[in-house]
Amino acid sequence: MPAPSQTVLILGGGIGGVATANRLRRRLDRQHRVVLVNREEHFSFAASYLWVMTGSRRPGQVTTSLRRLEKGGIDVLIGSVERIDPASRTVRVSGRDVPADHLVVALGADWATERIPGLADHGHTFATLPGAERLAPELARITSGRITVLTAAPLYKCPAAPYEAALLIDAILRARGVRDRVEVLVRSAEPAPMPVAGANVSAAVAGLLAQRGIDYRPGVQVTAVEPGLVHFGEASEGNDLLVYMPPITAPRVIADSPLAEADGWIHADANTLATGFERVHAIGDNTHIVLGIGKPLPRAGVFAHGQAHAVADTIAHAITGHGQPGRFDGHGGCFVETGHGRAAYGSGDFYAHPAPSVTLRAPSRRWHWGKVVFEQNVMRRWL
Ligand SMILES: Cc1cc2nc3c(=O)[nH]c(=O)nc-3n(C[C@H](O)[C@H](O)[C@H](O)COP(=O)(O)OP(=O)(O)OC[C@H]3O[C@@H](n4cnc5c(N)ncnc54)[C@H](O)[C@@H]3O)c2cc1C
Repeated sequence: MPAPSQTVLILGGGIGGVATANRLRRRLDRQHRVVLVNREEHFSFAASYLWVMTGSRRPGQVTTSLRRLEKGGIDVLIGSVERIDPASRTVRVSGRDVPADHLVVALGADWATERIPGLADHGHTFATLPGAERLAPELARITSGRITVLTAAPLYKCPAAPYEAALLIDAILRARGVRDRVEVLVRSAEPAPMPVAGANVSAAVAGLLAQRGIDYRPGVQVTAVEPGLVHFGEASEGNDLLVYMPPITAPRVIADSPLAEADGWIHADANTLATGFERVHAIGDNTHIVLGIGKPLPRAGVFAHGQAHAVADTIAHAITGHGQPGRFDGHGGCFVETGHGRAAYGSGDFYAHPAPSVTLRAPSRRWHWGKVVFEQNVMRRWL
């Protein structure tokens, strides 16, 4: 006898949500519904925003409609998640209550730029698509002065991205022949580049910055920004162009729900991504998974993707009895674009004890093309 029809409701149509929906759709018969909810109709691939910043991608090349999932049998519901009741697995979406048999929460992280007075008004960010689009002409225009790349808090999305941004900015200034007249600085709130990946990776990334003449100072927390001036408590430093990675915060709808801990995030199980509620899983940036070293698993698409597959397998097994429940093992890798058509590649086991075991492979064309292939895969085959 076929299993009774079940509805899997996936909140969030970013990397984690789309990967979950695709995998579930492949594993479940059509009698079961896979429903994806997202605020905007469009998906955009954040890892390519840095290429929008450098001018090597147009926004339209890294954006596509989530509606394309419908042709594969995924129901796409465009609307805002306003309330989550995990006990009854009922979600209010734009005023309408939507019940589910299984719930996957993948709403990402929200920006908290307003925490730093003046940051949004006097800086540019590559972390959003409109931000990267506005930054591109500024970088194309600058011929002298100082560019500061800033991480505005120790916790942000994609630990590699600000360092990639600095290396890519250096590369485009060199290509334009103005690098000797433009200083490039990195000021980071965290104590070292990509500190969760360990001292060797931090030293390798710091070495890449040094080789390119990028002045790097870690452990400095921005407190306020004025036109052409960044304040770090009592100290301040001038700039001609400020480029920043914003702080993040848990989405309000999650922080207000019983799913959240006091810090606003969902502390899902590291391996199963189970929450404290039956048939409710949480994946990706809205989870806070504390590693053995006391720091959280970085917010990165590679982990959202791996967790999505684990959760999809678990749900498919629960519904059909086939296959095995999934398990996320903490492995992941990340391309670190260095410019001039090259990238480094950091990968390893972030759940290793007593500390993550991660190595960074030296920049080469191979890793750059690896990222291009991954981008094309997401844009053309996932959606
Ligand atoms: C510039 C940049 C470069 C990056 N590069 C890399 C990289 O090279 N490699 C890597 O692994 N990671 C990278 N990342 C990080 C990666 O993009 C994120 O970690 C990943 O997208 C997280 O996936 P997610 O599904 O958890 O959340 P998201 O992809 O952020 O998706 C969340 C979705 O939920 C929707 N949503 C939120 N709230 C609501 C609501 N109330 N109602 C309805 N919908 C809602 C959002 O609109 C969004 O579509 C980068 C990030 C940035 C900013």
